[in-house]
Amino acid sequence: MPDNPPDLAARASELRRQGIVGVTIVWADNNGIPRSRTVPIAALEQVAERGVGVTTLLSVFDSHDSITFGHEGLSTPSGDVRLMPVMERLVALRGQPAFAWTIGQHVAADGTPWPYDQRSILARQVEAAAQRGLRFQAGWELEFVLSPADGRPLPTGPAYGPVALLSVDEFAADLLQDLEANGLRIGQLHAEYGPAQFELSLAPADPLRAADEQLLARQTVHAAARAHGLRASFAPLVTTTGVGNGWHLHTSVWRDGRNLLPGTGDHGLSPEGEGYLAGLLRELPALTALTAPSVPSSARLRPGYWSSAYAIWGVQNREAALRYIPGTPLLGADQANVELKPSDASANPYLALAAVIAAGLAGVEEKLSLPAPVQDNPGTWSEEQRAAAGVHRLPATPAEQAAALERSTLLQAALGPAAYGAFRAVRDADRAWAAERSAEEVVEAHLWKY
Ligand code: GLU
Ligand code: MG
Repeated sequence: MPDNPPDLAARASELRRQGIVGVTIVWADNNGIPRSRTVPIAALEQVAERGVGVTTLLSVFDSHDSITFGHEGLSTPSGDVRLMPVMERLVALRGQPAFAWTIGQHVAADGTPWPYDQRSILARQVEAAAQRGLRFQAGWELEFVLSPADGRPLPTGPAYGPVALLSVDEFAADLLQDLEANGLRIGQLHAEYGPAQFELSLAPADPLRAADEQLLARQTVHAAARAHGLRASFAPLVTTTGVGNGWHLHTSVWRDGRNLLPGTGDHGLSPEGEGYLAGLLRELPALTALTAPSVPSSARLRPGYWSSAYAIWGVQNREAALRYIPGTPLLGADQANVELKPSDASANPYLALAAVIAAGLAGVEEKLSLPAPVQDNPGTWSEEQRAAAGVHRLPATPAEQAAALERSTLLQAALGPAAYGAFRAVRDADRAWAAERSAEEVVEAHLWKY
């Protein structure tokens, strides 16, 4: 259970003096959708001790707010758990001045661990890594498309240009101030490739903080957009054929304060760093089922979009599912990391990172080695060339993803049987929902969920 800071009463009265009336406690469900409960500031101390009651069934809500009763452990309307605020993450929101925000973690009604709680699943992987002397840093890039609430089309492009950013100048200025005031550090903000598409990259942090901050960043972007008559879509696709929103996940692995990705071996990887990447590569099909899990997610993964489509690794290759970014003399060894491209906002950030760590740790333990990197776009090759090079497509449909995850005993073990069962039931429900609908309807239905 999260520890409460001793000065809680003082903190609550300070927030009240700032004009804060409510505290919103947020978690991410199995669809990557943020869910929340808001409590009055007067209740903060009590809620910090005892949490608030929520239904167990939020673990089996699908992407369309239907409850699937298809998972045996959660197949009746009976049951309640406690949502505990993680008080060390409490922050007064600059963009929503009447509210404070924090992350929530679920425990069983009696206060004992609840196996469906995704944040605890990530904490377990972090702990398993720590026992082996390994530590991780992680950070997401968030791509999003802005649309005006009043229907006026936003001027778009040129891609990566200051004029595109100027079209949302007041939003961008507020966003930067809000992010900083909310305690979020970012690398950069820019106009992306797609129409009215923008991106910000979150600074690396330890895994739990990185996942918590990813959720806070979403709320911060949504609030700034709303303040300027805009809406932000974080959906993997905003049209069936255009550029998608990737939420690429960067990670690095460390031992004794040293980044293990740079080294003296081939491609600049240390042996343990190579094991980490090789572990990710081996598990990529199943990993994608957790890091890009919605129905539109797999449709985003097409060659030629820098979203990745094939289960390959490459050095600075923007078509590779695993893009290794080596350290350089200019940046230093600490900057080395690997970017996972088949990753988007529909992933639960805790499950996604837990799966990445589990896959990578296994690669380190088993001392796996990598094939030669692919430095090209295999989408431009013939079937024969791909077959000769052993290059396989990532799962291209939700059914292929489900089959890949079903084969991965490693990732199932990382989640545990309860959480895996709920996750699988939700994906089955999403797939059944989409089977009766056109690609356009599916994309449209996911636009504003994340
Ligand atoms: N929008 C691309 C995607 O779907 C990524 C473009 C980029 O590399 O920044 O992942
Ligand atoms: Mg980008």
